[in-house]
Formats: sequence, C-alpha cells, structure tokens
Amino acid sequence: MNAAAKKQIDLYYALRLEIDELSNKLSAEHHKHLECKKGCDQCCLNLNILPVEYYAILNELTPDGIPEIETITDREDPCTFLKDHACSIYPSRPVICRTHGLPMLFLNDDGDDMELAYCELNFTNAEDVEFTDENTYPEDTFMSKLYQINREFVKHFKDKQYREQQIIPLIGILNEHK
Ligand code: SF4
Repeated sequence: MNAAAKKQIDLYYALRLEIDELSNKLSAEHHKHLECKKGCDQCCLNLNILPVEYYAILNELTPDGIPEIETITDREDPCTFLKDHACSIYPSRPVICRTHGLPMLFLNDDGDDMELAYCELNFTNAEDVEFTDENTYPEDTFMSKLYQINREFVKHFKDKQYREQQIIPLIGILNEHK
C-alpha cells in the first residue's frame, strides 16, 4: 500500500479513537439506562463496510487473530466474527459496532428534521431522559468524516479499484491470510 493510502488508514484509526472516547463518555452518562453487555448479540449481523475500514482492520489482524468460522444455528445471518455470543475481533471491530446501544441523532430521510434512535432491547426508561445534542451520538458528523477519509483512500489505493460509495463484505477478511 502506498504512503498516501496508509495516511488515510492512520486518519481512520484517529477517527475511531475519537468515536471510542465519545462512546465511552455517553455510555458512562447513560449507564443507568444501558442494558447492552457481553452476550447480547442481536446487532451482530454480517456487515458490509467501506474499503478504508476493511484494510485498517485487516492491517491489525495477524493470521492468528483471524477466528475460525463457527456456525450459529439459532440466528439468521449472524456476523461471522461472533463467537460464543461475543465479538472475536473486538479491539478492531468496525465503527458501527462501537456505537451499538447508544442513543443516535441523525437527519431524517426527508432531510428536514433530526431523528433519534436507540435499541429498544437495550435502552431502558428512555422517557426519563431529555435527549439533546450533548448526550446523543451525532451519527451524521462521524459518518461524513468516515466517508471523507474513505474517498481519499480509494483515490490513492492502487492494489484494487473501488468506487467512491462502494462497500465490501467484512467477511472477506477471512480469506486474506489464506
Ligand atoms: S464485528 Fe464484532 S461487534 Fe461487529 S457485528 Fe461482528 S461480531 Fe458484532
């Protein structure tokens, strides 16, 4: 990978750190409402992710860090990296997995109002919370930063050609070390 593409991978890691810091802060703030914990895996479905995220995760995983595929029969399309109801690539998991369970604020489909979403299995007594910009995760802000980093990455990444909006299956990582 050339230096310009690597620079975008580093920017991705920096963004991920920023997201983790905010997610930790929001988790602490809402801890009385959050039921989300190890063992709850309803969000863990097979994902498609942006190429910059794919190669950043691949870059962190050694062949030993790639888990064996396990068949889980009681779920439809579980994420391949889910093992014993826990994430087997937890430190490297994609951005979307880092915000599971938090109250998210984003622009609605019509683009004329903000919408709030949270997991109803997880966030209890939501009626007791006054949701504001300060205590919710700003989904659009971080997605826009991620798309910008990815746009530069695919422009400079010469090993494969990707379109600007293309997403690729996370599961492909399993074949990369074979
Ligand atoms: S990468 Fe990990 S946290 Fe994300 S969906 Fe898969 S098992 Fe769940």
